[in-house]
Amino acid sequence: MTTNQLRQSMKIYYYECVPNSIHPKLLELFSQYTPCELIEAPQRLTAALKAWDGKYDLGSLVSIALEFEDCRILILSNVDSHFHRWCTDQYCDAHWGCSSEYISVDCAPDHSRLANQLHECLHFLGVQDCYVENDPRHPPKGSCTNPSCVMRYGVSSTDICDSVAEQVVQHSNILLKDEGRA
Ligand SMILES: [Zn+2]
Ligand SMILES: [Zn+2]
Repeated sequence: MTTNQLRQSMKIYYYECVPNSIHPKLLELFSQYTPCELIEAPQRLTAALKAWDGKYDLGSLVSIALEFEDCRILILSNVDSHFHRWCTDQYCDAHWGCSSEYISVDCAPDHSRLANQLHECLHFLGVQDCYVENDPRHPPKGSCTNPSCVMRYGVSSTDICDSVAEQVVQHSNILLKDEGRA
């Protein structure tokens, strides 16, 4: 058995502001890195997100709506939304979205949706960005050796670099330990 077969699968609930925003290839691509399920957000979460006015803390709203269930949330939105403002309030450069460990938001233009959705989901695995934050030029970090790495700023690809691959393995080992299987 491979490590991935031993692992519990990550449950990701997705919420679409516009129908069919989730890229059909996302599940297949992200499954290369961790066993996962992409599930449409349950009614109670959908209702809470629809009614969200941007003021109440998004993390608390999600936790309460899902009764503190262990899962991740992927919100597919656009640049004209409370969700986009939630991202740019936290990180001023987060024009295509952001991730805060359990909640990721994708606001990328159509041509970059798959790359950005993969980027935001990789953050669920503890993967760090491959660009220098707080630098308006968003230069790549020295640890990133692949110019088309999806964790770089504004890169529309589905490639990763060795550093990202290492972080994915590290994360997987931590989870295995937590599950008492290593
Ligand atoms: Zn990022
Ligand atoms: Zn990289």
